[in-house]
Amino acid sequence: MYQLKKTDEMKIIAVGWNYVDHNKELSYKELPKEPVIFMKPDTALLRENKPFFLPDFSDDVQYETELVFHICKMGKNISEKFAPRYYDTVGLGIDFTARDLQRKFKESGNPWELCKGFDNSAPVSEFIPKEELGDLSSLPFSLDMNGTTVQQGNSSDMIFNIDAVIAYVSRFFTLKVGDLIFTGTPVGVGKVKIGDRLEGYLAGRKLLDFQVE
Ligand code: MG
Repeated sequence: MYQLKKTDEMKIIAVGWNYVDHNKELSYKELPKEPVIFMKPDTALLRENKPFFLPDFSDDVQYETELVFHICKMGKNISEKFAPRYYDTVGLGIDFTARDLQRKFKESGNPWELCKGFDNSAPVSEFIPKEELGDLSSLPFSLDMNGTTVQQGNSSDMIFNIDAVIAYVSRFFTLKVGDLIFTGTPVGVGKVKIGDRLEGYLAGRKLLDFQVE
């Protein structure tokens, strides 16, 4: 018999449909009444601007640039008011999505894990202490692809802000130190191909810079 050991593994929680203009581009017309939550396994993480290798099971892998919050304290049933105590740093991430598979899963009403949680589908940047970032409720971020800006977002446009998301998900999942929360993408998602260079900026600082291979 093998007893599972406690490890320092973390989970990645992500929010879908959190920016009105992006929802329109993917024809999601209603405003969600509660955050739409999905998860990625820890094997989805890609760090240190390492290259992203296109998987062979999709012909339409798309970037989604997102603000990512790092959980610094364990908690459950966290109230929105106290949520800021549970994150200390903010980074940028790409929620790579196999859009063709997602379309298929949506049509059949099946779960999203495979199209959202595959290996290396979650590149993340370094994280910046929130004190250095100032007002988190109006945090600009953007993505350049091959030198052209393709996405520009601001945390002020989120339907559910990070505190609301933490309050919501912590009713279901205990948040642990090291967990990451991806907070949804603004308008402008698109397909990547081999050779593309992605550069992500948070509050004017370049944090992501990697190649698609
Ligand atoms: Mg996303």
